[in-house]
Amino acid sequence: MQDRHALVTGAGSGIGAAVALALAQQGCRLTLAGRSHGKLQQQAEALRTQVPDLAVVLAPMDITDPLAVQGAVQLAQSQLGPVNILVNNAGQARSQPFVRTDAALWQQMLDVNLSGTFHVTQAVLPGMQDAAASGTPGRIVNIASTAGLMGYAYVSAYVAAKHGVVGLTRALALEMARKNITVNALCPGYTDTEIVQDAVRNIVAKTGQTEAQARQSLAARNPQQRLVQPLEVAHSVVWLCAPGSEAINGQAIAIDGGEQAG
Ligand code: NAP
Repeated sequence: MQDRHALVTGAGSGIGAAVALALAQQGCRLTLAGRSHGKLQQQAEALRTQVPDLAVVLAPMDITDPLAVQGAVQLAQSQLGPVNILVNNAGQARSQPFVRTDAALWQQMLDVNLSGTFHVTQAVLPGMQDAAASGTPGRIVNIASTAGLMGYAYVSAYVAAKHGVVGLTRALALEMARKNITVNALCPGYTDTEIVQDAVRNIVAKTGQTEAQARQSLAARNPQQRLVQPLEVAHSVVWLCAPGSEAINGQAIAIDGGEQAG
């Protein structure tokens, strides 16, 4: 995947950091996006220790702010060329029983997880389309969730937003089908990152379980009785972006040890 420019949102931690490393190892030029410049800087330094000749640009942006997104994407493209691979990974998960889900929490979950994906895709797509028309394939991979495929109690706003991401993926895949661009979603189950750490803290606070018990209760959702590792999601991103995956389009692929099979 040399000569591809990949932009990864939420690249400063968790799944996004693993995806950035995996794409760097495939030879991509990289734009790292996220709100915290410090996290992106640290991640760029970590990547350079593994891939010394990496071309990397930092693009601090809040994906809920369309103007900030347009500006940061333009800057990244002026340095590394049009984006050929977009990984919409940035997201937040907040839990609350439905009756205590106020309008602000509802809006925040939709803004970050769904509208953020929309804003970044809109900013990137014109350049991606031009490059795809000239022969460099485009790939959009949206990191949705098993919560985009099924319901979970106490996270209704997140579940609704992630279902929206899956819907957006399917619709855009059809629009791009004859334009040398594929659009797919990956749907991880509980994955060992800060989001799960937050969920564990929440369970401990609300139920009095120990941290180990709380982690185990999340891992138990997975038939393999474990948390998914960020690297496992990153491998699937690379697979979807690599030559040979052109026919995979409009899919929402679970990475969950079989949770969806039950
Ligand atoms: P994480 O480590 O908390 O990563 C989330 C990233 O999103 C952070 O790097 C954060 O960076 C960025 N972000 C959050 N709000 C943002 C905003 N408004 N604008 C720009 N960037 C923003 O958690 P993760 O588990 O790796 O999450 C990555 C994706 O996987 C999310 O979409 C999540 O919903 C999805 N997912 C996670 C799991 C899981 O169990 N962990 C399961 C299924 C799906 P800054 O704070 O610097 O902005």
